[in-house]
Amino acid sequence: MAWNVDILTLYPDMFPGHLDKSLSGKALKQDIWNLKVHDIRNYGKGTHKTVDGKPAGGGPGMVLRADVLDEAIKGCIKNNNRIIYFSPKGKQLTQEKVKEFSLSNGVSILCGHFEGIDQRVIEKYDMEEISIGDYILSGGEIAAMAFLDSVIRLLPNVIGNNESTIVESFSDGLLEYPQFTKPNDFDNKEIPSILLSGDHKAIEEWRTNESLSLTKKRRPDLISKKKDKI
Ligand code: SAH
Repeated sequence: MAWNVDILTLYPDMFPGHLDKSLSGKALKQDIWNLKVHDIRNYGKGTHKTVDGKPAGGGPGMVLRADVLDEAIKGCIKNNNRIIYFSPKGKQLTQEKVKEFSLSNGVSILCGHFEGIDQRVIEKYDMEEISIGDYILSGGEIAAMAFLDSVIRLLPNVIGNNESTIVESFSDGLLEYPQFTKPNDFDNKEIPSILLSGDHKAIEEWRTNESLSLTKKRRPDLISKKKDKI
C-alpha cells in the first residue's frame, strides 16, 4: 500500500512542488507514496472565508482559528495517521524520527501560518509538534517538504542501493566521512591514497576514523548522545 500523505495548507499550489522531482517524484509516479492536498480556505468563515483571528490577549499578527482547522481536519482526513503540526516550538526533527515515520502508514500535516494556530486544536488531535531548526519560517509548507523529502527516500524501493541510507550521516549517530570521485588529481590535491588501495578493511578503518574526528570537531553533542545510548 502507498504511504499516504494528507496536507492541509493555505497554499495548496505549493505542492507537490519539488517533491515532484528526483527520487520523490519518481516514487510518486510509481505510487510508492501518494499525496492529497487540502485547502484550509475552503473551511473559512463568512463571505470572506476568514481563517484567522487576532491573538487573544493582544500582540502582533494573526492566529489560525481552531473551529476552522477542526472542520478542515474532519472534512479532509479520512484515516488514523498521526497529525504533525510543524512549529518552532516542537521537538527538533531527527533522522530517528524520520525513520519512525517511514515505517508508518503515512502522515497528515497541518501547515501553520502567521503567528501560528490556536492551541486547542493541537491538543484536540494530540498533534505531534515538530521543528526543523532554531529559526523562524513564514509557514509550515517548507518544513513539510523537508520532512517529506527525508521520509520518502527511506520508503522501500525508493533508493536503488539501500546501503546508501545505512551508511550516511546520522544513521549510526555520526557524521559521514568525506567523499571523493574522479579525477584523481584536482587542483594539485589527490584523493587519499588509501581509498584507491582496494584494501577494504583499511578503507573502512579510515572512514570510521574520519567520521569520528569530524563529529568530535563539528558535533560533539552527537558523541555524547551516542555514549548515553551504549
Ligand atoms: N509565532 C510563532 C512562529 C510562527 S511562524 C512562534 O514564535 O513560535 C509561522 C508558521 O511557520 C508556524 O505556524 C509553523 O507552522 C511554521 N514554522 C516556522 N518556523 C518553523 C520551524 N523552525 N520549524 C517548523 N515549522 C516552522
